[in-house]
Amino acid sequence: MRLDFSNERILAVVAHPDDAELLCGGTLARAAAEGAAVGWVVCCRGDKGVPRNGGSEKPLAEVRRKESEAAAAVIGAEVFFLGAPDGELQDTLERRRALTDIFRRFQPTLVLAHSEHDYHPDHRAAAQLVLASSWFAASPAQRTGTAPLRRAPAVWEMDTVAGTGFLPEFAVDITAWMEAKRRMLGSHRSQLQRAHDTDFAPLDVLMERLAASRGQQFDTEWAEAFRWSRVWKRCRAF
Ligand SMILES: [Zn+2]
Repeated sequence: MRLDFSNERILAVVAHPDDAELLCGGTLARAAAEGAAVGWVVCCRGDKGVPRNGGSEKPLAEVRRKESEAAAAVIGAEVFFLGAPDGELQDTLERRRALTDIFRRFQPTLVLAHSEHDYHPDHRAAAQLVLASSWFAASPAQRTGTAPLRRAPAVWEMDTVAGTGFLPEFAVDITAWMEAKRRMLGSHRSQLQRAHDTDFAPLDVLMERLAASRGQQFDTEWAEAFRWSRVWKRCRAF
């Protein structure tokens, strides 16, 4: 059995500028290679991704926006920005409307969302926003200035950072797209330079370990793990 992304429009919704590359970059690269339209929404500005020895926040948000755009260019993806400050993302009406409007413009058939059990409050808030906006995007009564979708997109939950507490239901084989995923993550130079922060493994090591361990679990070299959405109209029959 082979998963086929060729007629899909796939949009990931992530909290921070490097999360898509870490958790679903290989899947997006594979989908793009198969002919799907792909993109992702970065909810937060990445303004607090500074080394422990400091650094100012404002230019960093601009640097990280450019890094995301460079990563998207690797696979011809479209990238959107919600512009929330790091650590302050919440499931508010304003953010729901902004994300609903992006859904209506991109018209995803599949949305990749953070797990509601991921480690960071911004990740959990982004997951809540996806659940709300994936419903409202197809609701004509919710007016955003763009036409409603004919059908709510399917939603898959992405792996957690380091796989903590996440029991995968299936995985996408990204072996042929691991190099693309590495190049995407390699665009985030400001974060890769944080390699000696004490609170994280270096970002590239974190990515390699997760993709290798999911690959081993699913009998391939490199993989990204997911769960189906349990929410009505966001789950699908195959
Ligand atoms: Zn994050």
